[in-house]
Amino acid sequence: MPRLDRSKELFSEAVKLIPGGVNSPVRAFRSVNRDPVFIASGEGAYVTDADGNSYIDYVGSWGPMILGHAHAGVLDAVTAAARKGLSFGAATEAEVSMARLMTSLVPSLEMVRMVNSGTEATMSALRAARGFTQRDKILKFAGCYHGHSDALLVKAGSGLLSGSTPDSAGVPASCAADTLVAQYNDLDSVEKLFGQNKNQIAAIIVEPVAANMGVVLPAPLFLEGLRDICSKEGALLIFDEVITGFRLGIDGAQGHFGITPDLSAFGKIIGGGMPVGAYGGRRDIMEMVAPSGPVYQAGTLSGNPVAMAVGITQLSYLRDHPEVYSRIAALGETLFSGLESIIQRTGAPCCVNHIGSLGSLFFTPGPVTGFPQALLSDTAAYAAYFNHLIEAGIYTAPAQFEALFISNAHGETEINRTLLAAERFFQKEK
Ligand SMILES: *Cc1c(COP(=O)(O)O)cnc(C)c1O
Repeated sequence: MPRLDRSKELFSEAVKLIPGGVNSPVRAFRSVNRDPVFIASGEGAYVTDADGNSYIDYVGSWGPMILGHAHAGVLDAVTAAARKGLSFGAATEAEVSMARLMTSLVPSLEMVRMVNSGTEATMSALRAARGFTQRDKILKFAGCYHGHSDALLVKAGSGLLSGSTPDSAGVPASCAADTLVAQYNDLDSVEKLFGQNKNQIAAIIVEPVAANMGVVLPAPLFLEGLRDICSKEGALLIFDEVITGFRLGIDGAQGHFGITPDLSAFGKIIGGGMPVGAYGGRRDIMEMVAPSGPVYQAGTLSGNPVAMAVGITQLSYLRDHPEVYSRIAALGETLFSGLESIIQRTGAPCCVNHIGSLGSLFFTPGPVTGFPQALLSDTAAYAAYFNHLIEAGIYTAPAQFEALFISNAHGETEINRTLLAAERFFQKEK
């Protein structure tokens, strides 16, 4: 059992100063029934906590650290950019380079606007979609998370798992009234809402691979179906690629599945660990955004030069080393199929969903094909599993409904250690 004295001390002070002791709810470890581990540093596939314990890290800052922690090239980019000044609130060359890079890598991006988080990216994409279509309603899926803006905190999955009623206090029903909720992987539920709201739906927003109710893959023809419905109904298709973008491949889930959305939202990987988001897509839609059009959207720190330097470095590295994707996908295959065979051998009532370097172990026999099935998970059993892994020096998502992320700094050693620890847990539970 690692000693966590310093983490405990820090947390007891933190809860007096910060709501729940954390700046984002999942970090509080509440759903795994323990105090949080405070992270002091990271290197490669490992993080070290405030007491000096080291862990194999499968959180990776929830996705951005695809090259591992403290990647030398990325660190060089930060320090070089920082020496030239931290922020100007003025146009800089780095923003042009970032826009050139993103639009060259993702074919559906004709124009792109940088923001500071995934939340801002999806919120702004929806505003552009509403401005462009002159329609008010939006359609999202139960269990998909698109950040914490008011209109999107409806059946929002992730840290909120617990009709158009807001999941959060402080969100007026009126803010959520134009948010329609359909079931992931259920095209009939989408058709039905379009039928009931003829010519009123501005856009469908969807995680092309859901990763905030645990990982749930799109069923065959689900994304194609959404594309067809949007085209037929004059609505826009928005892919929230905040997790999948530059993770499933250099052209994201849209490249992987061969679907062209009208708009896309990005975050996480494009910032390489800095607070960055972006939205973009069709030129005729993006030209609606201020100052070229009437849809207002702005940001004091948007396109920040240090953040752009990190993003450009990480994305260029991924572009120039396409083998990263096949390598992390192979590691994913080893880990997730290894977990599957442990489940089979021990008869554990669990299942695994995975794609490439992204996956989830659900404590329900499954298959988990949508939100209702994900909710059948035994979260107490997940908590026991999480705690077993922490004690074995493995830091995985501190909640059942989050994804596990593999980075290019991981290797067979880390994966095998993880499988051994998982095997021990499930043998003991048998
Ligand atoms: C993390 C996430 C967001 C929100 O991004 P933040 O940077 O946390 O605001 C939006 N959409 C998806 C799919 C996410 O996973």
